[in-house]
Amino acid sequence: MEDKPCVLVVDDVPANIQILANCLKDHYQIKVATSGELCLKLADFETKPDLILLDIEMPGMDGFETCQHLKSNKNTAGIPVIFVTAKDSTEDEEKGLLLGAVDYITKPIRPSIVSARVKTQITLKKQYDQLQILAMRDQLTGLYNRHYLLEVANAKVLHSKRHAKDLSLMMIDIDHFKTINDTYGHAEGDAILQKFSAVIMQMYRGEDVVARLGGEEFVVLLDECNLTSAQMRAEKLCKIVEALKPSNIMVTVSIGVSQLSTAESDDFTQLLKRADFAVYQAKKLGRNRVEILAG
Ligand code: GH3
Ligand code: MG
Ligand code: MG
Ligand code: MG
Repeated sequence: MEDKPCVLVVDDVPANIQILANCLKDHYQIKVATSGELCLKLADFETKPDLILLDIEMPGMDGFETCQHLKSNKNTAGIPVIFVTAKDSTEDEEKGLLLGAVDYITKPIRPSIVSARVKTQITLKKQYDQLQILAMRDQLTGLYNRHYLLEVANAKVLHSKRHAKDLSLMMIDIDHFKTINDTYGHAEGDAILQKFSAVIMQMYRGEDVVARLGGEEFVVLLDECNLTSAQMRAEKLCKIVEALKPSNIMVTVSIGVSQLSTAESDDFTQLLKRADFAVYQAKKLGRNRVEILAG
């Protein structure tokens, strides 16, 4: 069963928290914070709340300021905020909505209305999260797609340059895939792409980004990995694929490996180009092999 969505209730008065918690506790997991400062901390944990109910009048950091901080931090900007407050002027409501809150509820609250409004926002949040996943994943294989790869790759290149860390890239191209399709059919071809993807997803975890660039071409971005160890990992992958024989079909890959150079002008496009050229070399030299191209 899916976990209940999590609502973070923020109010300096425990009795107010109790009232809100009572009307939500059956359908949601409730977290509480008694100050704006504590709210910011709880919102930025690894597991984030799906919604924040935020009081405005609190000692220390008030709700407006808290909302401003939430919206300016990329880790928390996507969490919907509903103000729940005694401040019932048009100006305050407008201010709250302009700060990025999705709704504004005035106290004293009517529990059934709070429940209904929370439900609407949680539904929207879940749909948004689902769309985010769809937008960054390739549908056939579940790997990251080209669009997502390009987005993270540029950030990784900048990070590696700034901190003088190694960054390597493997470009993987399945050998004679057209012949495999022609011989066994497109559906079998798809199944092979899926099985192959499951294998590389298993092999590379954590910081590494495994993406389907398109067709039968894949990219693995290897964090803190130099050309030599990237080459070793590519050789290992080549052997594993050769031994895989999905549906008893011999499948091999050619892999090109490149590393980000220290040159100021080097970037992801160049890195990808070098790996692509190395793949071309591997194909020319007989396939089922790894070639490298230093920066
Ligand atoms: P090489 O060893 O030189 O890479 O030969 P190849 O046949 O793998 O290369 P080519 O680029 O000529 O053909 C790639 C093939 O991949 C052609 C295309 O039909 C197939 N392909 C691309 N995307 C998919 C897909 O999503 N599913 C299936 N089944 N086949 C695909
Ligand atoms: Mg208060
Ligand atoms: Mg290809
Ligand atoms: Mg190919």
